[in-house]
Amino acid sequence: MSIVEVSTQPSCADAGDSQSLSVEQARRAIRKALDQITDRQMVPIRDALGRVLADDCISPIDVPSHTNSAMDGYAFVGADLPTEGVREYAVVATVLAGQSTDVGCKPNECIRIMTGAPMPPGTDTVVMQEQVESLGNGRIRIDARHRVGQNVRQAGEDIAQGACVFQQGRYLRAADIGVLASLGFAELKVRRRPRVAFFSTGDELRSIGDPLGKGDVYDSNRYSLFSLLTETGVEIIDLGVVRDDRQALADAFKRASSMADVVITSGGVSVGAADYTKDILKGLGSLSFWTIAMKPGRPLTFGRLGDAMFFGLPGNPVAVMLTFHQFVQPALRYLASGNWPQTLVVEARARTALKKKPGRFEFVRGILEYGEDGRLTVGPSGKQGSGILTSMSRANCYILLDEACAGVAEGETLRVQPFSTTI
Ligand code: AMP
Ligand code: MG
Repeated sequence: MSIVEVSTQPSCADAGDSQSLSVEQARRAIRKALDQITDRQMVPIRDALGRVLADDCISPIDVPSHTNSAMDGYAFVGADLPTEGVREYAVVATVLAGQSTDVGCKPNECIRIMTGAPMPPGTDTVVMQEQVESLGNGRIRIDARHRVGQNVRQAGEDIAQGACVFQQGRYLRAADIGVLASLGFAELKVRRRPRVAFFSTGDELRSIGDPLGKGDVYDSNRYSLFSLLTETGVEIIDLGVVRDDRQALADAFKRASSMADVVITSGGVSVGAADYTKDILKGLGSLSFWTIAMKPGRPLTFGRLGDAMFFGLPGNPVAVMLTFHQFVQPALRYLASGNWPQTLVVEARARTALKKKPGRFEFVRGILEYGEDGRLTVGPSGKQGSGILTSMSRANCYILLDEACAGVAEGETLRVQPFSTTI
């Protein structure tokens, strides 16, 4: 994987080696610095969900492979359909799905046909059985309302042989797996998943199962990050907790960057007395230390650490999740596929007024729901402190308040980023 240098546009708030960036500038700088993973592997089709196609997929066959009936009914020669009144026909054969017949139709003859069965020779039209009057003795009657060619699926009408069905770089979804199965692919060539190593930093962090001393907290970031990475579909290397100790941190950074495409840490990138991270990192890679004009989650370190890309996320549990959603997740998807994902943004009516000063982009944890009038409404999910993870847990969206926003009145239309397609 080759990585280009990170260059960013410093802004007026630039101080020393920190750069102050807007959310959009940070996204652009990250995207510019990323390359794609090109290693590839074969996987059985059942394991391909969520994987990224390595090559354009060209169809080896027509789908459907034969012209067939879209209905249970009777196959006719179009030129032999009644143009007025009703007409009687003899049923000369039956063809079921999975069968075929050599029998054709002479004038005043038709063939009983089931959905999916190949059209008999010379026939081009199907009349559904509900529109046929059965006379017994192998005879039926139809009226003049039918159109030549109706209820027939043409060979190749879904996918023509030789057509490009999916372009390389596509994240495979359930319907894609069905399409690929309909083309007969048992295995697929996909890109290797990004390998992501991560650890938490902080002397106050205790692992689950250990007793909590005075001033200690359980290391929750590692678990939320593990879950976020799982949702993103990457290979995960959990390197545990690293203490606020120069040598331990330097070793951990080196080890992580030697085994992964991306290294993520949480904590230790602010200006606290024990935040050595910055100093150590400076010696190990080519990195930018950003202050992003956003709330929560301002400090973010990004760049190259050995052969890996590095994201140094803030320590606060909410800021970790927010910066992951806004920067790391799209970056991982870009690394994996070459496509930067577009996030879904919807509009909703504010249930309450919201205070805000212009300057920073605020991501308010919100609850999006349908009002009595059937339209979307949104309001905060609780206290918005950057350590208050329960309001993130209750939230199903971010309310997006851009830099210029100077507060929101009740009833105003807001832009909202839902966490998923169900609320
Ligand atoms: P830091 O960025 O290291 O100064 O941490 C900011 C805040 O986040 C502090 O209150 C830390 O205790 C807390 N914090 C840092 N890392 C974690 C973690 N892995 N799990 C839970 N809280 C954390
Ligand atoms: Mg810390």
